[in-house]
Amino acid sequence: MSNPSLSVNCPRCGLLTARFIEYCRNDGYKLWPSSELASEAFEVWRAADPSRAEASRFDLELPPAALDDTIDYAARAHALGIHIFPNSNYPFIICVGALFLALAAIPFATPARLVLGVIGGLIFLYGVVGWVLVEDVRMYPSESSSHGEVQH
Ligand SMILES: [Zn+2]
Repeated sequence: MSNPSLSVNCPRCGLLTARFIEYCRNDGYKLWPSSELASEAFEVWRAADPSRAEASRFDLELPPAALDDTIDYAARAHALGIHIFPNSNYPFIICVGALFLALAAIPFATPARLVLGVIGGLIFLYGVVGWVLVEDVRMYPSESSSHGEVQH
């Protein structure tokens, strides 16, 4: 049970085969007295180590450990000098402003259109200023102050 291997060399043919299967895969040599016994032995072997939890008794090797392949695209873009707009809720505010501006384009009575246009314009500008001038500058302080060329 302490042997970490999932495979074994068959005593008759000498080829590598799954250790907890009743018969050798290559020549059918009987490795275990019964399939049930082989399965029980596999379960005891698997319970002996938490890293064996994902193993199958039909495999020759333990499955590879899960890779952590998450990528921080923001940090990568920053290293490459690529400008990415910051994650932000301001685009939603910009859209609300655009909604009021669009409503102002409908031929209502002139005072109503003026009020809608002013409300929409203010909300729209608030969103644009917050996104482009506040959050973006906070995210790229040196880049925005030096305008363009990345300093190395
Ligand atoms: Zn064999």
